[in-house]
Amino acid sequence: MMDELLVWKRRKSFWLGGFVIRDFNGLRDVYGSQQFMEGAGLIGSYILANDWDFDAFYVGEGRFVLIGSDEKKGEAALNGLKERFRHHWRGELADLILPISLVRLSPSCTSMDAVTAPGFMRYVFRIAAQPASGEGVIADADLLARFHHTIYVRKCLNQAIENNSIEMYLQPLVKAENGVLAGCEALARIRDTEGKLIYPDEFIPVAESNGMIEELGEQMFRKACAFMASDEVKNSSLQWINVNLSPLQCVDASLADTYMEIYRTYDLKPGSVYLEVTEQSLQDSSVLHKQIVRLQKEGIPFVLDDFGSMSSNLERLKDNPFIGVKLDKNMVWSYMDHPDFILLHIIEACHEMNIKVTAEGIENADMALVFNDLGCDYFQGYYY
Ligand code: C2E
Ligand code: CA
Ligand code: CA
Repeated sequence: MMDELLVWKRRKSFWLGGFVIRDFNGLRDVYGSQQFMEGAGLIGSYILANDWDFDAFYVGEGRFVLIGSDEKKGEAALNGLKERFRHHWRGELADLILPISLVRLSPSCTSMDAVTAPGFMRYVFRIAAQPASGEGVIADADLLARFHHTIYVRKCLNQAIENNSIEMYLQPLVKAENGVLAGCEALARIRDTEGKLIYPDEFIPVAESNGMIEELGEQMFRKACAFMASDEVKNSSLQWINVNLSPLQCVDASLADTYMEIYRTYDLKPGSVYLEVTEQSLQDSSVLHKQIVRLQKEGIPFVLDDFGSMSSNLERLKDNPFIGVKLDKNMVWSYMDHPDFILLHIIEACHEMNIKVTAEGIENADMALVFNDLGCDYFQGYYY
């Protein structure tokens, strides 16, 4: 396809569009591969039967690219496809409804160089395939700038991982009753080429999308262990450190072995490092459950993070031996605006299960008073 794109690029102007079947892999599982293969054939025949005057390509993962010279014809083709995909694809075995998102390359981007083009198109299709993209994505100058920034962040991340230079920032966790330091959370930071900080909101999604999250997580865990083993900590009131686990690390069956080996290297007391997992990680929790049980035995307890940010489920707490729960900051803030009884019940239920409760996002003395009255055990937030 890239060769064809180069041929088109040599001409003065060209139009490029396409579409992607949303949740392609999920749908393939739902319909089964036989129905899906037949469906793909039906779509291919439909495209070929239309005399659109385009080069059409299937580029895998439910993505189709159309390249031609005429924008009007291109738009007509995309609209035709959108309409067609509202209906079933029926064949001998196949009976499929397939949601699609359209992709259009804006004229402002057709001059992009041949090195950038393939990666950018993959990026655009990935965004188009996300449910939040609605009916389509326009690959314009803004998106191209975002793509370049993502590449830059990835470069910085690669370097930080290779040079062992991911920075560990610490945020205190204090006792709710008196504000005294008890633990802390390790939060990852990296730097750009000019030394400016890059925040996790930018690099964690990148690390999760290209498989670097495991190395990032391990580096943070190792640094947290080293920190807890240092003299500075031994002579302080700091009792433990929380380290984050990405949902992707939670489906790795070798997690417990890897982390135990690191933990043992530092000769730490049991309970010196806790691992934070999110509710998202518990959705597919058969692998994670085993890791939690094994690591817990080794002296590495688990905490459920961001509780209340998804469909919170107290059942899930019963199923896993968590030592603590962290109430998501949005839940904490919304309680300040509209107090209700639910939070009180959640905190009481946790205490009945012997689970400590931390309120995140405590930003002032008022909030600390309110959440201490509610019975929280620990606080974390900008106030501290
Ligand atoms: P998180 O685990 O919920 O971490 C708490 C985040 O909330 C931190 O942002 C912290 O700076 C911020 N925060 C704490 N107190 C307050 C407050 O009072 N007000 C406000 N507005 N914000 C507060 P940060 O450091 O930017 O981290 C964002 C997220 O990135 C983390 O959310 C976590 O999901 C992820 N993350 C950070 N480090 C790592 C890591 O080493 N591994 C993984 N997998 N994820 C990480
Ligand atoms: Ca966390
Ligand atoms: Ca959190």
